[in-house]
Amino acid sequence: MGKTRVQESQADRKSRARKVMNGLKKLYPDAECALKHKSALQLLVATILSAQSTDETVNKVAPILFKRFPTAADIASADLSELEEIVHATGFFRQKAKNIQKACAIMVEQFDGEVPETIAELIELPGVARKTANVLLGTWFGKNEGVVVDTHIGRLSERLGLTWRSKDSKDAVKIERDLMEIIPQKSWTDFGHMMIWHGRKVCSARKPACDDCKIAKLCPSAGSF
Ligand code: SF4
Repeated sequence: MGKTRVQESQADRKSRARKVMNGLKKLYPDAECALKHKSALQLLVATILSAQSTDETVNKVAPILFKRFPTAADIASADLSELEEIVHATGFFRQKAKNIQKACAIMVEQFDGEVPETIAELIELPGVARKTANVLLGTWFGKNEGVVVDTHIGRLSERLGLTWRSKDSKDAVKIERDLMEIIPQKSWTDFGHMMIWHGRKVCSARKPACDDCKIAKLCPSAGSF
């Protein structure tokens, strides 16, 4: 896996990255965000809740939360213990409830109760890092300002040799910078969705199915598990 990364020029890596993307497009033409949402606020809250949780759990919890508290103002003025109880199943419920409430209070005070549309404003909200901001900007606002790097995308980028700056696959900021250099900007959001789907369906953390992987010929890690 290291061999290809060391020897590959940036131009070759770019060209391979495009082939990976085209391969993924054929496999997952309808890849999209798995978190159910009907508004920017719902997507923001669902993304905060999804940290250390599963989309399935969040998709069960979020509708309950929004039925009880439909707007940012409702959440901002909610009883914190009730919020904690509702989001309990997603884990880290105290911190998540606190962050969601504070984020909503800021949106009410500074943005008329709406979710801000710039990365600079989004990452100022409690519980919102670049990953969440990129999900919002790409999936809801249609702006490709960055690449989402979650656990699947970090793992796949490493295995596919699409990140080279850091040996620490947990360094999401470096991985994002690497991906932004080799993936065309207009495809950043779609690329993220497709990588997540491939990570879930084929290239899992514990048991990547290299024998069944349709992009194996483009992957320096194929068969090395
Ligand atoms: S060949 Fe294996 S390691 Fe590479 S992307 Fe496919 S499943 Fe993952």
